[in-house]
Amino acid sequence: MNYLSTRGDATPRRFCDILLEGLAPDGGLYLPARYPRIDAATLAHWRDVYVRQGYAALAFEILSLYIDDIPAADLRRLCEQTYTAEIFGTPEITPLKKLGDGFYLQALSNGPTLAFKDMAMQLLGNLFEYELGRRGKQLNILGATSGDTGSAAEYAMRGKRGIRVFMLSPHGRMSPFQQAQMFSLQDPNIHNMAIEGVFDDCQDIVKAVSGDLDFKRRHDIGTVNSINWARLLAQVVYYFAGYFLSTRGDDDRVSFAVPSGNFGNVCAGHVARMMGLPIQRLVVATNENDVLDEFFRTGVYRVRAGADTHETSSPSMDISKASNFERFVFDLLGRDAARVRALFGDALAGTGRCDLSGDSAFAQAGARYGFVSGRSTHADRLETIREVYQRHGATIDPHTADGVKVARQYVQPGVPMIVLETALPIKFAATIEEALGRAPERPARFNGIESLPRRVQVLPADVERVKQVIARECESC
Ligand SMILES: *Cc1c(COP(=O)(O)O)cnc(C)c1O
Repeated sequence: MNYLSTRGDATPRRFCDILLEGLAPDGGLYLPARYPRIDAATLAHWRDVYVRQGYAALAFEILSLYIDDIPAADLRRLCEQTYTAEIFGTPEITPLKKLGDGFYLQALSNGPTLAFKDMAMQLLGNLFEYELGRRGKQLNILGATSGDTGSAAEYAMRGKRGIRVFMLSPHGRMSPFQQAQMFSLQDPNIHNMAIEGVFDDCQDIVKAVSGDLDFKRRHDIGTVNSINWARLLAQVVYYFAGYFLSTRGDDDRVSFAVPSGNFGNVCAGHVARMMGLPIQRLVVATNENDVLDEFFRTGVYRVRAGADTHETSSPSMDISKASNFERFVFDLLGRDAARVRALFGDALAGTGRCDLSGDSAFAQAGARYGFVSGRSTHADRLETIREVYQRHGATIDPHTADGVKVARQYVQPGVPMIVLETALPIKFAATIEEALGRAPERPARFNGIESLPRRVQVLPADVERVKQVIARECESC
């Protein structure tokens, strides 16, 4: 399988060539040259593989269609090492919880950091260690986080050979639980920097450091952000698992509702659907930061300014633009890279918007690709958390509540609706208390996490200071 860029660079690249990269050199995103199509016999076989051999075996089947430059036995071992009941809490890895007839939550948040990002990041940690080992190289991962990405990356990379993590977060702004999760890690290859500023300051520093090409090369700087193709690919697997868990036969159709920010999670659903998984609808649920909902309603994609990006009670969906969205538009426009380049390169950089409302392709987003959308507000979130608790005795986190709220608008008789549960409520305790008047349950293994010793340095929002920390660490080895 070769990979190409959404903006036209078609230099043949295989999976491991793009594994450690972010954007393509032309500024586009990598996608496989084609989506492997699954016939009915394969789908039936995969159902059997999942039921009899488990999630890791299913992951191997799917990943091996996209990864042909890692020997099969090694890839199978990497999958088996990643998707274990010890790491993800249950043998199904992503079990369903029933909330009424034909309405389910798919639990993606029982991994080490209690958010769905573990599903991909845990695999990425093992793939990175494997590939860096083969190449005899090392990697210094530099990232900015408002919470979930940073902790998922750190728990995936801790103790990995050849890898260090430098994670910037806005000082004092993550939830107390998220801070405790990240800062209590004592692994010498994990470096937390709490920046005196907001998330955008952290992101600006990461951009500035990565933009210093000489520094970047000398210190082997890389990223693990959500545009990484391997992360997206890992997420494709649980759409198949959710399908098998909610249906009996392979003629059945299901819909998925996905709490969305950067469009990574739901884009994996799009890939699963392109492979032939019988998905009826892909429901994109946003919070008040409704860039995506606006697009699917109107055909206009409009990047928000900083001042128009709201801080909400589902903070992992607070985005000003959806960094994976270009992948879907590439498919929507019949993989016309020249048009994507014009829309996302030039037009977006100039006006901050791209307009497909008058384009016949836009009508296909729903009709042909199954996308529908909706938005949810703080009041909706509280209401949904209360209502799900009262009716079903389940406590859901604010992001999942956005998914449930929007999913309800799109339920169809006879088609199971699966809402992806993207985090556990304990990560966002303040909102749960506001909704239910009590604290959410805490998995036993996190008891007392807030009082563990912390490893974090507080720094001013200063690019040079961050560079100094990285340079010093790299020298000492
Ligand atoms: C990252 C995240 C999201 C958004 O996922 P995208 O792939 O960016 O659309 C939603 N919910 C939670 C809890 C997250 O951590």
